[in-house]
Amino acid sequence: MKLSEMKQALADGDIQLTKSLGQNFLHDGNQLRRIVDAAELSTADKVFEIGPGLGPLTELLMAQAGEVFAIEKDLRLVEFLKKRFAPADKLKLLHDDALDFIKREGRDWSAWKLVANLPYSVASPIIVELAMAKGCPERLVVTLQLEVVQRLVARADSDHYGLLTLLVQLHYEPHGWFKIPSNCFHPAPDVDSGCVTLIRRAQPLLDTAQGATFTRIVKRGFSQRRKMMFKLLKQDWPEAKLSHAFSELQLDTQVRAEKLSLEQFVALTQLLHLGDDLFDIVNEHDEVIGQRPRREVHALALLHRAAHILVFNYAGEIFLQKRSMTKDNHPGVWDASCSGHVDAGEDYLTAARRELGEEIGLHNPGQLEPLFKLTPCEDTGQEFIQIFRTQAEGPFTLHPEEIDDGKWIAPTALDRWMAEHPHEFSPSFRLNWRNFRTQGG
Ligand code: SAM
Repeated sequence: MKLSEMKQALADGDIQLTKSLGQNFLHDGNQLRRIVDAAELSTADKVFEIGPGLGPLTELLMAQAGEVFAIEKDLRLVEFLKKRFAPADKLKLLHDDALDFIKREGRDWSAWKLVANLPYSVASPIIVELAMAKGCPERLVVTLQLEVVQRLVARADSDHYGLLTLLVQLHYEPHGWFKIPSNCFHPAPDVDSGCVTLIRRAQPLLDTAQGATFTRIVKRGFSQRRKMMFKLLKQDWPEAKLSHAFSELQLDTQVRAEKLSLEQFVALTQLLHLGDDLFDIVNEHDEVIGQRPRREVHALALLHRAAHILVFNYAGEIFLQKRSMTKDNHPGVWDASCSGHVDAGEDYLTAARRELGEEIGLHNPGQLEPLFKLTPCEDTGQEFIQIFRTQAEGPFTLHPEEIDDGKWIAPTALDRWMAEHPHEFSPSFRLNWRNFRTQGG
């Protein structure tokens, strides 16, 4: 589509261009061909085009791809395109806001290539939304403001490197770009443009859950570009966990986010990701000697700490919980009212209070009386276990992933049940209850 044809089409349709919709139409045949070449299309390809405008790119895409799906926000252009390309089986045209559509539909785009001369005002959010979609397009060939292209291909420690770079490069590898001079567009925009090719990584660098942690780290890290990242991340992660992760990766705690490469952000995510909690490890005198991630503590049978709480009601009954069938250790057996690991930097009492809230919804427990401490052995899972007693009446809100059931029982009835069916109880609770009863509880 030549410039003269474009001007004629706009005049015929009495279409005044709208600046806020980024309506700068590409009329240069060479540049259009370079864009389509970068997409490396075959008839097996499905192409997604955002903002077809008067259709100069759409025409070439339809000639090479098997299917084109185009979304245009401006109804006047949709009407023009319907006339221009009708009837065309290959083209599906939709009148909508593309960003709204992508967010609303939550489609799997993994079998699609995005090839588009994007409206500049929404280009970055569209790219981020697609990159973070559950099935992101296999390739993005997008024409954008040059400054945004530079951000998409940037490397650590450069002016353009930041949030956009990392959110997109987690999923895509940049495969070259070229500049498109302003005079190739009608009307000519105030700034230069470029077309960049991004190819989806063959293997994801992180799984979906870790991806969410990556986004959190990167957003926080770049929330104040000039500030030390360690300080910023303290708003979201315990200092002990951060110190451990930074020292594992040999990162200076004074470092700013812009100095870290994508690979370093990925490694940091793996260490900070939830589920890999950090525990204090202790010596045989229950003195803290370091901090290690949960997996390592269990794999190497390192001594660590836990708090168990026995909750009694006014009638003198004890509350028991039945461990969830999804637990790695001792699934489906009866256990103390509440129990859990002591996290790095915590003391037994703090851990006990936290666990009561998290596991059984008892957020403001009364006094927690320390009773005794079990020493590490196979039955305690190499834990020092501090036992507490408290009083509460329930009903409790049981954590659905941790606990399958709960009930009150009189101590004498529990004695009989445990004597007759010891294997219906966790080994640590058997030890705990025996000690409790021996000490007159
Ligand atoms: N593809 C055409 C070309 O290369 O000449 C037009 C590109 S022009 C830079 C951007 C196009 O996107 C315009 O046609 C504009 O109306 C359309 N547009 C703007 N915002 C949009 C949105 N949120 N969703 C879909 N299309 C949009």
